[in-house]
This record gives sequence, structure tokens and C-alpha cells, in this order.
Amino acid sequence: MKNEDFDVIIVGGGVTGAGTARDCALRGLKTLLLERNDIATGATGRNHGLLHSGARYAVADSESARECIIENSIIKRIAPHCVDKTGGLFITLPQDVDAGYGLDYQAKFIQSCRDAGIHAKAIDPAQARMIEPAVNPDIIGAVKVPDASVDPFRLCACNVQDARDHGATVLTYTSITRLLKEGDRITGVQAKGSGGVSLEFRAPVTVLAAGIWSHGLLAQVGIDIEMVASKGSLLVFGHRMSRMVINRCRKSADADILVPGEPVSILGTTSTKVPFEDCDRLRVTREEVELLLREGSALCPELAQTRIIRAYAGVRPLVSTGSSGSDGGGRGASRGIVCLDHEARDGVKGLITITGGKLTTYRLMAEIATDEVCRKLGVKRHCTTATKRLPDIVGRLSRNLKPGRPKPLREDDMVCQCERVGLADIHYAVQELGVKNLEDLRRRTRAGMGTCQGTFCTFRTADALCAELGTPHEAPRLAREYVNERWKGMMPVGWGDTLREMEFMQRVYKEGRPYSYEV
Ligand SMILES: Cc1cc2nc3c(=O)[nH]c(=O)nc-3n(C[C@H](O)[C@H](O)[C@H](O)COP(=O)(O)OP(=O)(O)OC[C@H]3O[C@@H](n4cnc5c(N)ncnc54)[C@H](O)[C@@H]3O)c2cc1C
Repeated sequence: MKNEDFDVIIVGGGVTGAGTARDCALRGLKTLLLERNDIATGATGRNHGLLHSGARYAVADSESARECIIENSIIKRIAPHCVDKTGGLFITLPQDVDAGYGLDYQAKFIQSCRDAGIHAKAIDPAQARMIEPAVNPDIIGAVKVPDASVDPFRLCACNVQDARDHGATVLTYTSITRLLKEGDRITGVQAKGSGGVSLEFRAPVTVLAAGIWSHGLLAQVGIDIEMVASKGSLLVFGHRMSRMVINRCRKSADADILVPGEPVSILGTTSTKVPFEDCDRLRVTREEVELLLREGSALCPELAQTRIIRAYAGVRPLVSTGSSGSDGGGRGASRGIVCLDHEARDGVKGLITITGGKLTTYRLMAEIATDEVCRKLGVKRHCTTATKRLPDIVGRLSRNLKPGRPKPLREDDMVCQCERVGLADIHYAVQELGVKNLEDLRRRTRAGMGTCQGTFCTFRTADALCAELGTPHEAPRLAREYVNERWKGMMPVGWGDTLREMEFMQRVYKEGRPYSYEV
């Protein structure tokens, strides 16, 4: 692989890099995608999984709202196996009236949605309470919009798989250490692969899709872009509390979105500006958990009595617009797409940065970046990603059954009961999807993400995975690493039912026979 040449190198295996690799490969370019960890380990694996209709942005940012509604319907079409068409509800509460977000604001919100092409319809609060029994019973207004829930891990993996199917090379656990610069041109990258092996790749064009980490890579070659590292913390609740995505109908604020995601519910988020050096060691604080619970209970009072199964945080890769907003946490920074041609901007040839935007607009971001790559290479091929369906790797995992049908698992083939992951899924994930450890497996199959959070399945899954990898002696190490990672997400919410669950979990890990390992 050393010194191999490509048409384009893409740095970052989040959804933007994965989408760009897919688009480049579909346009016939010899494509290399490099990711320092596993895919979807940056912001892509650390968000709500809300496929925005754009309604959230309609009043303040009509361009983002328009992009969202167009991409929302494209993703529903090209990736139906990644999307749950839940619909969304924007609610108005009595306390919003005093803050200037009463029913007048609701009317303005509906008009702004319609102007952006978003179908928004006011419904009677009594009807809203009937559709959504968990919603705050005090609501005085409700608007239905086409929000949806999307599985970001699956979406990212499907893009990577399609890129591979069209000839792209994808290397995970390969970290870019340096952009290679000759004169005024970036000619490739230097990287460290697994086991610390040094690698070098060359291409006439390199695309940085490294999220917030693009900032540091650009600084190495003397390019400064003003990014805001905006940390957002989220809570996962032990069951699905609502059918629809529930939002507050007001200016974006803390804890105003509740998203049903597979068997659980996700509440978010906070918004705090953090130093760049903190982006790799994010921790959810006790204060953030309290704030999320306090504000979240206004959306859905039952949240206060529901078991929280974990907390996590991600960093939005926002590009500064000059003002950081009244909260200083980045809500004022643009959520818009930023594609930088560094030849035009900084006099550095062969380098493009694609950042900003959202999970919802990843495909459009990839199209914009790939158009730019093609322009630089003099290639005239059009984008087809808005109409070409993504492969259904979920269907392929469950032996090509139609999506939505239950998997034909025998009980003794099953490793994760909450998420119905079986031995065949592990076989496929290792052989075809580049899975190397339990965290990778979780991101491809959801193993361990359900209500028990891996309490009953971690050791079984570790044994099955290591048997498939041909390294059975590694099972205790992989299990230990995985448990430690899961534990981090439980620590900030370790009280009440969650603490009881943690105690029980510890007991199972320490004393459970025959799967007993020191963890
Ligand atoms: C708390 C929160 C909630 C959000 N909620 C939503 C939502 O509900 N809906 C929505 O549409 N959007 C949401 N977003 C935004 C969305 O998550 C991001 O816009 C999107 O995931 C960004 O994807 P990305 O691929 O550009 O960046 P990332 O996913 O961050 O990917 C960058 C990748 O680059 C890799 N990388 C970094 N440095 C290197 C290197 N040196 N070598 C190799 N690889 C490297 C990283 O490991 C990472 O995997 C949310 C964001 C946050 C933080």
C-alpha cells in the first residue's frame, strides 16, 4: 500500500467523509478513505439521530431549512432502511408565552416552514395529547412536521459499503499524521496504520472531512479556519417514550429535542464551547445531566421517572460567523455547509475542506465536495447519489431478508437479545464490514446498545467475535475494553435505577459463570 497513488484521498470516516467517498467512487475516481478510529466515531456517532425536516431552522436560517427538507426527502428515498418516519411535533407550553414564544410565534413558525417548503400543520393540543400520551399535558399549541429518526451508524456504514462496492479503498484505524506539501501543493498524506506502521499515500486532490479535527490538520500547513468546537451532551432513556420526535416551538435552546431511536429515546442537547484539545476527551458533567433532565421534563414529564441508561457527548464542527451567540456555546455559529477550496482561499493547491452542516445534509455536502474534486481533476461526471439507493447492509446482515421482517434467529444462535444480533450477523460484520472489536460490532449491528447495555451479552459476544476473528484468546481483552467504554457513559447518570443496574452489571461481569473475566 505504501506510496500507492489515488485520484482522491478523503480524510475522516464520519458521515461526510463516507458520503464523499461514495460519491467519488460512483463517479469513477480511484478513491481512498482514511479514518483514524472506526467509522462514525466522531460527531456522526454522537448526535440525536434526528433527520431534520428543517423546521428547527425555519425562522432563523431559511437556507439551512430548505437544504434540510430537500435532503430529508432524498434520504427517506435512498436509505429507507436507515430511517424511521416518525414525524415530528413542535409544542408550545404556557411558560413560552412570557418568553415571547406563544401562539403568535407558532403562526410565524408555520409560515416560515411553509416558505421553506416544509409541510407544517397546526393540530389541536387535545389531538396532540392523544397521538403522544407522553407529551406535557399543559401544551397550548402543537405543529406536525416531517421530522424523522435516522440511525447514523447504519447510514455511515451503508455509505462506506457502497463506496467499497464501487472500488474505493477504505482504511480504518489509520491516522493522518501529516499533509504532504510540495511547494504550494498538497500531494498526499502521511499516516500511521494499525501497529504503528508508517504509510504514505499520494493523490492530486485531498479532501478534509475530519469534522472538528480539520482545524488542527489545516494548522499544520499554516491554514487557519475559524471553527467553534461546540460540545453537546445527550441522555439515553431505557425505552421508547414517544412515537414522534418532540421539539419545543421556540428559539433553539438546551434539552428541547426528544428523539425515539430504535428501542430507546434520546434527549438533547446542551451547547458549550470547549477548547480544541478537549475534543478527544469529552465527559458529560453532573450539571449537564441535571440541566437536561430539568428542561427535558418540560417536553415530557415522564422523563424524570424513567431510567437513564447512559450519557454521551459530541462536538459539532461549526464554522464561526463572527458571533458565538448569546449563550457563547456556538448556537449562534452557522449550521450551514462550508466547502473551502484552499487554492482560491489560501493559495494551497490540491486541498479541499468540507465541514459544518448536519448529519441530515451529509449527502449534499458530499456532492458539493465531489463536484469540487471533479472540477480540479477535469472530470465531467454528474452526481447520482440523490437517486441511487444505498445498499441495505442491515438486510444483508440478516441474510438478505426484506427490511422490517424479524430475523430468523434460533435462540442458541443469538448473542444480543435486546437488539436480536446473531452469529450470522457477527460472521458477516467481520468478513464484509471491517469489524475488529466489540465497539466496531456495536456500531454495525447495535449489539449491546439495547436496554441491558450489554449486561447479559458482552462475554457471549466477545467469545463469538473472537472465534470469528480467529483470536479466541483475545476475548477477555476485548470484553474489558468494551465494558470500560460502556461504563464511561453510565458514570454521569449513576444514581437511582441506573445505579442499581450498574451494581447488578458489575456483579454479572465479576461473578457470572461461565463467562467470567477480570474487568
Ligand atoms: C450533540 C450533537 C447533536 C447533533 N444532532 C444532530 C441531529 O440530530 N441531526 C443532524 O442532522 N445533525 C446533528 N448533529 C450534527 C452532526 O452530528 C454532524 O454535523 C455530522 O455528524 C458531522 O459529520 P462529519 O463526518 O463531518 O464529522 P465527524 O463525524 O466528526 O467525522 C470526522 C472524522 O474524522 C476523523 N479524523 C479526525 N482526525 C483524523 C486524522 N488525523 N486521521 C484520520 N481521521 C481523522 C475522526 O475520527 C472522525 O471520525 C449533532 C451534532 C452534535 C455534536
